[in-house]
Amino acid sequence: MTAQALIAGNWKMNGSSASAKALAGDLAARAKGAAAKLPRIALCPPAALISTVAAAVAGSAVAFGAQDCHAKDKGAHTGDTSAVLLKDLGCTYVIVGHSERRADHGESNESVRAKAEAALAAGLVPIICVGETEAERDAGKAADVVRAQVAGSVPAKSSAASIVIAYEPVWAIGTGRTPTPDDVKAMHAVVRETYAKSHSDSADLAILYGGSVKGSNAATLLAVPGVDGALVGGASLDAADFWTIIENAPKR
Ligand code: PEP
Repeated sequence: MTAQALIAGNWKMNGSSASAKALAGDLAARAKGAAAKLPRIALCPPAALISTVAAAVAGSAVAFGAQDCHAKDKGAHTGDTSAVLLKDLGCTYVIVGHSERRADHGESNESVRAKAEAALAAGLVPIICVGETEAERDAGKAADVVRAQVAGSVPAKSSAASIVIAYEPVWAIGTGRTPTPDDVKAMHAVVRETYAKSHSDSADLAILYGGSVKGSNAATLLAVPGVDGALVGGASLDAADFWTIIENAPKR
């Protein structure tokens, strides 16, 4: 059985309460009016805009989540947000281990795994991000890097139904560059095979592709075997472009 497709938007550090209300409301209205079967849809705004998005998508098929969580449930961690609080706010998903957090905040595979474990314990679905840098790809190490990230970042006590993995080559994020469909297929197979070394349900695992997905390349990237959806940055800030990506999700 293959996973139901998921199209998740990562708004990164963008938006205001007014723009978040308008964008999330636009997508909720499109989802309500959709005639065709929809994939899972999620919006991950900045933490400060989660409640705004929650109100705007209420009653629609659009879910929402956060871009990070702390590994601890509470305590002296100024500026951080716990998975427990995200769940309390109504989140379904939380992105963990995005390459921008791995780079900007020095997050290791171990800390990403701890965050994913906290998300699971709180009843959230962690979207665990992995992906190689351009230097690692040029050195022929892309598969090894991603294998190590999956092995180190995915909690042992997880299942295909409880997590999502996003393969996001760092050099493709926000650059307009994308891997070839063959490269995407090969790297998704690396992710699935690595997950399968410690889990028995790899066929059911949702693996998203992320990195410069937009309406104009969604059909090609989302048709690649082993791709179960997309994690979308820039294009998720444009309702029409994001909706085109949603319309091109694998039909399951
Ligand atoms: C991302 O931030 O996860 C991402 C894939 O960004 P973009 O779509 O802008 O490349």
